[in-house]
Amino acid sequence: MRPPTTQEISALFQRTYGHAPTVIARAPGRVEFIGNHTDYNGGAVLGAAIDRYVWVAAAPNPAGRFRLFSASGPSVLELPADPGTRITGSGSWANYPLGVWRSLKDFNLPQPAGFDLLVVSDLPSGAGLSSSAALELATALALLALVGGTLEAGRLAALGRHAENKYVGVPCGILDQGTSAHGRAGQLVHIDCRGPVFSRVPFPASAPLWIFNTREKHALIDGLYATRHRECLDAAQALGVALLADLTPAQLASREKKLTPVLAKRARHIVEENARVHDTADALQRGDLAMVGRLLTASHRSSQHLFENSTPALDALVNLLEPHPAVLGARLTGGGFGGAVMALTRDIFTEQDAVEIARRYAAPPARPPEVIHLQSADGATVLWRG
Ligand code: ADP
Ligand code: MG
Repeated sequence: MRPPTTQEISALFQRTYGHAPTVIARAPGRVEFIGNHTDYNGGAVLGAAIDRYVWVAAAPNPAGRFRLFSASGPSVLELPADPGTRITGSGSWANYPLGVWRSLKDFNLPQPAGFDLLVVSDLPSGAGLSSSAALELATALALLALVGGTLEAGRLAALGRHAENKYVGVPCGILDQGTSAHGRAGQLVHIDCRGPVFSRVPFPASAPLWIFNTREKHALIDGLYATRHRECLDAAQALGVALLADLTPAQLASREKKLTPVLAKRARHIVEENARVHDTADALQRGDLAMVGRLLTASHRSSQHLFENSTPALDALVNLLEPHPAVLGARLTGGGFGGAVMALTRDIFTEQDAVEIARRYAAPPARPPEVIHLQSADGATVLWRG
């Protein structure tokens, strides 16, 4: 899909609401480049903002009403006032923009009294590319612009996360919003999750990233996340540290006997993954993409064998990608137990190569994975003002 122009978004807004928008903001999706389950263990993660976006166009609503429309949804949702509770059913997506609007007040920022809002996106929703954070950040910038306000990237990310945690009820960490807010084309976002402290590392602007989305989702996914979280905290406690990221791989090796075999595997994954994030940032500083690729695949093997949050489908994709001469490395991206594999490739890797991998992975009649070609991109911004 070709990205929509601001003129096309304005025209759709005009057709929907009968008047022009005042502002159009845009925020990118993201991929977890490396740093698997390190966030809640006090570790680091590298994210890439990607060239797939959510656009939010908005204008004040003089009657103080809330009108919301998503180009991917059926109809305009019209609310005379803030319902104050979570919306269920087909309009439940509106909890994101309404949650952002409520969060403005929580952050002592000005709120428009009412608004007309249009959402357009070329970011697949639910593919692990964080359409939810992009929707939150683009909404926050658009609503603030209606009252003449703005927000720097760190606060913007915090506000988006607050909206998702408190008003949508998803206990996400800071990776999604932090990457969407701080992203730059030609850089990755490094997040030390304990601050959080954000910085950037160079990443070749043309370096191709490929997503192979299996669309599979483990039925017990919430319980599995909670189990891994608990195992990590139990391991840290047995090792006498607050969080697993307090340990270096050498320190863990000397204390590992204190752990059951299962907890030892979980702890090794986290501690070594955290070290891999630092090694990846170093390799990127040196421009050593071959090393970056090896670290990505090592991350996957650790998920597969130690953290056990991979699936046969994700392993099969990595097994097909790893030996390909134009692939530098591949790993599951996101929480695991289903979802997608991300590959970093050389420029010579083509759409045809990706489709061939997808075909070999899933011979008909099985459903091939969704293939998405991405590059690093700039973070959330106001694109246009009327
Ligand atoms: P992800 O963030 O990985 O894409 P989530 O489940 O966190 O997946 O967020 C997806 C939800 O975000 C959707 O179910 C929907 O409520 C909302 N959303 C994302 N994109 C859009 C859009 N273009 N229009 C309306 N709602 C959207
Ligand atoms: Mg999300």
